[in-house]
Amino acid sequence: MKYALISDIHGNLQALERVIEDIAERQVDEIYCVGDIVGYGAQPSECITEIKRICRGSVAGNHDWAAVGKTDIGFFNKEAKAAVLWTSENLDFEEKRFLAELPLKLYFDNAMIVHGTPVAPEKWDYLLYTNRLGAQFAYFSEPICFIGHSHVPVVWTNAYERIPPDTEKPLKLEEGRRYIINVGSVGQPRDGDPRACYSIFDSEKKAVYIRRVEYDIDTAANLIRDAGLPEKLASRLYRGF
Ligand code: ZN
Repeated sequence: MKYALISDIHGNLQALERVIEDIAERQVDEIYCVGDIVGYGAQPSECITEIKRICRGSVAGNHDWAAVGKTDIGFFNKEAKAAVLWTSENLDFEEKRFLAELPLKLYFDNAMIVHGTPVAPEKWDYLLYTNRLGAQFAYFSEPICFIGHSHVPVVWTNAYERIPPDTEKPLKLEEGRRYIINVGSVGQPRDGDPRACYSIFDSEKKAVYIRRVEYDIDTAANLIRDAGLPEKLASRLYRGF
C-alpha cells in the first residue's frame, strides 16, 4: 500500500491543491493528515473541506484545537495568537466540531501518527534534538511514527541518527530499525525551502519519499493580507521560514 502523509496545511489552499494534484499522479491508496489543518492561512474552511474529502483520517494539531478553544494559546507568539482568533471567527459550527473531535493519535498499517511527540501528543512539544529521542521510542511500539509540528522534514532513528530529507532518493527503511519521520509542512515550510512539502510511505517497498511541490505563493500571501492577518504570515511564505 502507498500512503501520503500531509501535515501543517495551515489554511493554505493553494499549497494543498497542488499537493493533492501531485498525490493524484502517484497512485497513492490512502491519505492521512498529521494535523494543523488551520491557523496562519486565509482559507481554513476550504482546507477543512478538502481534508474531509481526501483523507482517511487526521490527528489534531495545536492550531486545530486552539481554534476551538481546546488548547491554551498563552504560549503562542503574537502572530499565531492573531491567526487563532481570526480562524476561530471564520469557522462555522460544523467545522469547529470536526476540529474538536480530531484524535491525538492514529494508527494504520503498522505505523502511528501524532502531531507533536509520541511521549505527550497533548503537550505539543517539538522534537528538535537527538538528546530527547530515547524516551520517544518507548511510547509507541510500531516501527514508524509520523509527526509534523516543526514544519521541518527530517528522519530520526532509534540509533540516534538524524537523517536530513533527500527529495532525490527515497529513504529505505531497514529491518529492525525504528523511525520517527517528520513529513514536512504543506502550507508553511520552515526549512528554507518555500515549496510545499509532504511525504509518501510505501509499505511494500519499505520506503519513504519526501516530495516538494511549487505552488502559487502570491495568491496565498495576498489572501492573508486581504484578510487582515499579520503581514509576517504572508512574507514568510516566500522565504520558507
Ligand atoms: Zn503547524
